[in-house]
Amino acid sequence: MSTLEIRDLHVEINPGDDAPIEILKGVNLTIKSGETHAIMGPNGSGKSTLSYAIAGHPKYTVTKGSILLDGVDLQEMSVDERARAGLFLAMQYPVEVPGVSMSNFLRSAATAVRGEAPKLRHWVKEVKESMGELDIDKTFAERSVNEGFSGGEKKRLEILQLGLLKPKIAILDETDSGLDVDALRVVSEGVNRYKERENGGILLITHYSRILRYVEPDFVHIFAAGRIVESGGKELADELEKNGYERFIKAAV
Ligand code: ADP
Ligand code: MG
Ligand code: MG
Repeated sequence: MSTLEIRDLHVEINPGDDAPIEILKGVNLTIKSGETHAIMGPNGSGKSTLSYAIAGHPKYTVTKGSILLDGVDLQEMSVDERARAGLFLAMQYPVEVPGVSMSNFLRSAATAVRGEAPKLRHWVKEVKESMGELDIDKTFAERSVNEGFSGGEKKRLEILQLGLLKPKIAILDETDSGLDVDALRVVSEGVNRYKERENGGILLITHYSRILRYVEPDFVHIFAAGRIVESGGKELADELEKNGYERFIKAAV
């Protein structure tokens, strides 16, 4: 049983030469094992900033509040330590790593997270099975990480990582963006398998209620202007679908 607890989180972005800008303005959120939380919000409301801040991206500075995983403050930890502690972040824009094959990349990631290298024979079998479940072609194992992958292929590979790394809490930032119906179904099934097998806690960030037809949320949070402005159940997503964000944006300012 794990808990990710975000308390009154304020985050600034440091654009470099310009003065820092406050993006997150007091986010409160608690995610437990087995729970799926959807965060929905308009473009630019700070959803990705929230996921980067949790993951420990150096460009984002926490100026107030706390992020605790099972009572331990993540702010004291490096990005790698956070992963070892059981956090997983699927990036909205996954990176390309030329010259490193998917299979080596995945094994290094698993080694880092598990603290020892998975036995090669078991590992190959595990990866093969997981790739099969996600309809990922065998040839992908030998291709460079994300190089030349289509948007949908990158998303499938994120979910492949999710299944292999078995985190306690997974943050999926727009995992549904740019997917066709078939890919959306395959990716959603992967998320649901992770839920069932690992009893994982999920933070699912999305613009659209489309993915919530496949991945059932226990809680839906509306995000606007850097914080959660309303929380509820699945019916909130249905309301959004019908009426858009206007009501929530008005309430936020
Ligand atoms: P969302 O994921 O909800 O679309 P983001 O967290 O990506 O929102 O962005 C929140 C706000 O932070 C936006 O107004 C965006 O323009 C701003 N922002 C993000 N990255 C930078 C940056 N590198 N420099 C300046 N502003 C940024
Ligand atoms: Mg965006
Ligand atoms: Mg975003």
